[in-house]
Amino acid sequence: MKAAILEGGKLDIRDIPKPKANFEEAVVKLLTAGVCHSDVHLVKGDWPRFVQPFPIPLGHEGIGIVEELGPGAEKFVQVGDRVILGLGGSGGGYWCGACEYCLSGRPRLCRQAKPILGAYAEYISLWAKSLVKLPDSVSNDEVSLACGGLTSYSAVKKFLRFGVLPGKPVAIIGAAGGLGHYGVQVAKAFGFKVVGVDVGRDKIDFIKSLGVDYAVDAGEAIPFVKKQLGGGVYGSVVFAPKISGFELGLKIMRPGGIFIGVGMPAASEGGMEINPLELLGRDPIIMSSAVGTVEEMREVVQLCADGKVKSHVSRRAPLSQVMTVLEELEKAAYPGRAILNDMAN
Ligand SMILES: [Zn+2]
Ligand SMILES: [Zn+2]
Repeated sequence: MKAAILEGGKLDIRDIPKPKANFEEAVVKLLTAGVCHSDVHLVKGDWPRFVQPFPIPLGHEGIGIVEELGPGAEKFVQVGDRVILGLGGSGGGYWCGACEYCLSGRPRLCRQAKPILGAYAEYISLWAKSLVKLPDSVSNDEVSLACGGLTSYSAVKKFLRFGVLPGKPVAIIGAAGGLGHYGVQVAKAFGFKVVGVDVGRDKIDFIKSLGVDYAVDAGEAIPFVKKQLGGGVYGSVVFAPKISGFELGLKIMRPGGIFIGVGMPAASEGGMEINPLELLGRDPIIMSSAVGTVEEMREVVQLCADGKVKSHVSRRAPLSQVMTVLEELEKAAYPGRAILNDMAN
């Protein structure tokens, strides 16, 4: 079968053996795969922490049909089921289910957690527990819900967990991007008053089309919230993978706000500065959010089936063009997501 393999900073389509289903695994014939911005960073080696012994199969967002079950997998899925897979690539490959993190709903932090890799391929074999069955109303185009949708959902849901109530204004920084456009829709579905922030006329127009309450250019965001929203938002989620976006996310909040960092800037961008006196004066809650759980994946799929969240697909390509698509994503050539919809060519 064909698969995209990363080796020495180069991504090639190679012919490799079709995978077999091991214990509790299912072989899935992929119909679509989402091309995720994180793969741009992996190919370029931007995240040294994640550099693994090469070669590695790439791709972690997929929709496909279950074709074969390993022993024990029948407890979770059946042959013929159409499923979404990925969990943002992190933690979806395996988790122990018994450690303090698994039992408190954070399996990504489990010491035994394994990632999902290899969705840029005709077939993938993976742990059946992390597969989520799709209703007919969710199309194969929605493949990026597996990572972008889930990541955005889990981040915005944290507002509720930390007491920001529906109706309050919150900011989505990087609102036109592959993650942000989901974040805006999820925040609207939860009933927040949404301030969508991005840079440039086209992106602002795109954010407006998503139904935000306010679409604001990053350069005007601080004066806007000061004047229009009583001094600041109650919380901000930063999807933009830029340190400047992180700094804006902190500054745009009123005292006591909740800051959730999601975007992952390249290591070469360095860190962000926090003034301890300002921290004392503004007393924010600062946290990060990455991917989500299987249960949250089911919740996002339901939101999509209900028509409240929709993937904006700007580009469709066959597997053989994955490298071209990654180059386009690096240049932020279009809003929303890119997907592969022909895995055999
Ligand atoms: Zn991803
Ligand atoms: Zn565990």
